[in-house]
Amino acid sequence: MKAGIIYHPDYLKHDTGMHIENAKRLEGIIEALKDSSLNQKLIYLEPKIASINELTLVHSIDYIKYLEEFCQKGGGWIDADTYASPLSFKVAALAAGGAIKAVEHILKENFSWIFLLCRPPGHHAVKDKAMGFCLLNNAAIAASFAQEKLGLNKIFIIDWDIHHGNGTQEIFYDNPNVFYFSIHQSPFYPGTGKIQEQGNDRAFKTNLNLPLPGGLEDDDYLYILKEIFIPRAKEFNPELIIVSAGFDAHSADPIGGMRITDDGFSKMAALIQNLANETQAQGKMLAVLEGGYNLDQLPRTVLAILETWLTEKSFNLDNLNPSPYIEKIAKEFKEIIL
Ligand SMILES: [Zn+2]
Repeated sequence: MKAGIIYHPDYLKHDTGMHIENAKRLEGIIEALKDSSLNQKLIYLEPKIASINELTLVHSIDYIKYLEEFCQKGGGWIDADTYASPLSFKVAALAAGGAIKAVEHILKENFSWIFLLCRPPGHHAVKDKAMGFCLLNNAAIAASFAQEKLGLNKIFIIDWDIHHGNGTQEIFYDNPNVFYFSIHQSPFYPGTGKIQEQGNDRAFKTNLNLPLPGGLEDDDYLYILKEIFIPRAKEFNPELIIVSAGFDAHSADPIGGMRITDDGFSKMAALIQNLANETQAQGKMLAVLEGGYNLDQLPRTVLAILETWLTEKSFNLDNLNPSPYIEKIAKEFKEIIL
């Protein structure tokens, strides 16, 4: 199995100072990886700076120009949450270019999967606006590039970041060939992601949100994924799976309210790999780093997932023990979406 990491030290140059989304997140992951026996099994690949044309696959030219100029003029706060430094536009274009290179390697050079370890994160960035620490929507750019430039038809994006990926949802809301699936805490930032938001017209039922209360544990998440995500994803039968991999649903995360452990994340990763193997994707996956803000914990969780995918670990999910509330909510969800 050929598996890769895309990373560049320039990803640290999106300088957000004391912001919770800072360079230390990525530095910690890379250091832990260098010290790990997993490292020698991974092929390190270079990103590139995405061109303006490539960025317009997803973002409006007016927004791209605005962001470039905003950074050139010295940067600052774009909104109450989102900061850009003078180099942030270039770094964001290098993250988006990492997403493009990743799909090229997967689809043209037979990589089974690649983990894009980049920042700034992307899933809140909409067509014409930065928000929620996100400048350019890396996962969406990967999907659009694969579809429009590499001839792929059906792509499934699973977003397990604790926040709803409003940007990714909005970008593909009319596109029946990109399925966007999100499991997230609700009510929570950014306020979107209701179960009723299922896509427009011909894209109806290719957008699926599972908004959940905080405090949930591994088996709750796994039960919901097994009962709802797996059947829908199998039915869609994608040719590529993109994971918007945020880690702020971890029990140790300072901003999220979920209680997912490393074991839970490993099992979710295994479930997705298994699905990728059973569909037209033939195992092809791209993971893109989104949130996750506990600096000590984040590297451990990322490594747990890399190990799961490298060893193609499988777990028995026959005897999950979700809370009765989750069983009830899963039933309600099914009634709404089926
Ligand atoms: Zn998040």
